Amino acid sequence: MRFISTRDSSQSATLSQALLDGLAPDGGLYVPEELPSLPSERFSNLSHIKYIAQRLLTPFFEGDRLESALPEICDETFAFNIPLRELERRTSVLELFHGPTAAFKDVGARFLASCISRLNEGAEEPVTILVATSGDTGGAVAAAFYGKPNVEVIVLYPQGRVSPRQEKQLTCWDDNVWTYAVDGDFDDCQRMVKAAFADDWWQENVRLSSANSINIGRLLPQMTYYAAASAWYWQRHRVEPGFIVPSGNLGNVLACLYAREVGLPIGDVVLATNANRSVVDFLNSGDWRAFDTVQTLANAMDVGDPSNMERLRHMWPDVATVRSKIRAFAVDDEDIVEQIRRGPERWGQVWDPHTACAVHVREQLDSEDWIVVATAHPAKFNDVVEPILQREVSIPAGLAELLERPNHVETVAPKLEALQQAYVQRRRQDP
Ligand SMILES: *Cc1c(COP(=O)(O)O)cnc(C)c1O
Repeated sequence: MRFISTRDSSQSATLSQALLDGLAPDGGLYVPEELPSLPSERFSNLSHIKYIAQRLLTPFFEGDRLESALPEICDETFAFNIPLRELERRTSVLELFHGPTAAFKDVGARFLASCISRLNEGAEEPVTILVATSGDTGGAVAAAFYGKPNVEVIVLYPQGRVSPRQEKQLTCWDDNVWTYAVDGDFDDCQRMVKAAFADDWWQENVRLSSANSINIGRLLPQMTYYAAASAWYWQRHRVEPGFIVPSGNLGNVLACLYAREVGLPIGDVVLATNANRSVVDFLNSGDWRAFDTVQTLANAMDVGDPSNMERLRHMWPDVATVRSKIRAFAVDDEDIVEQIRRGPERWGQVWDPHTACAVHVREQLDSEDWIVVATAHPAKFNDVVEPILQREVSIPAGLAELLERPNHVETVAPKLEALQQAYVQRRRQDP
């Protein structure tokens, strides 16, 4: 299978190349040249999710140098539980938060780490993943690459602008993961990353790569849990369930749409956004317009200009088609608070602010069969959830273990030269 750029289909790459490049050379995003057709019966005799992943991803790996490693990559990625739990008749929840950093981004990050570590086997120099984070992505990437051979990670985050628990998940690493607190905001961090990729010193001295959410290697494995959940649901109820997906950059929902396109028994796909409503307005008006980002309680979805919109519109250039494939609802902070508040009584659940958006949308929809996608554990966003519920939220064991570790972090000025200096010094101490 080849992967083409959304901007020019004559620009194509192998899977490995697309994983290492991140962005296509023309600035577009890589997408599969065509989606394979995988009738859902092919999944009916598989129970463990790692085997579902293997079968689903085989066509995407065909002809690539990683092809023979796919079973191991799936083993390493899907080493934690992804349960589908029925809450009441016609409403289930797909819990994607049992990974090391308690959010669904663990799946994509672990898959990418397994791939990139293997692609760099036998090379003299490690690949260095440089990542700017406003909170969630950096933790998942650091956890996924930690201890992997042939790769290092440099994480930049804005000092004092992430929650205490997020900060812990960014700074509890050592070994091949180096974390820097930038004395600036997230835009400064992102600017430094972009500058490094264009800088002579970094290009000559460090083999840089990226792991951000536009990498196709984060998106492909996320199809797996939609395949698994829909196949399990179908086996039990003989109904195609709809999915309600809390969405920001649209990577997760796109994975769901890909899974439906390849033939899995998925009904309606509905996006739940927070007050950042650019997709909702697009579906209403038919004109695509990005907005400035609004800060909300579901901050991992605070995105005014979703990066995967480019993939969505490439797949379905005509807005009427998009309207026939998805629906979208925006949920404001007031409704997020209300859903969290009554979660324990109404559903017997403590929701995190992102999942709360999807639950709110579930309550607006009619009585078809719905699977609410839970993207994070509430303990990860305890600073939002606990004041609303006025009690502590218990912490899953994996997350608790991270929170106990010592911090390793260095503060740098919001300038690429400052990062270079800190990096060179650390290299000398720790070659
Ligand atoms: C990143 C994130 C989202 C948004 O996912 P996209 O793929 O960017 O749409 C939703 N919920 C949580 C908890 C996240 O970390």
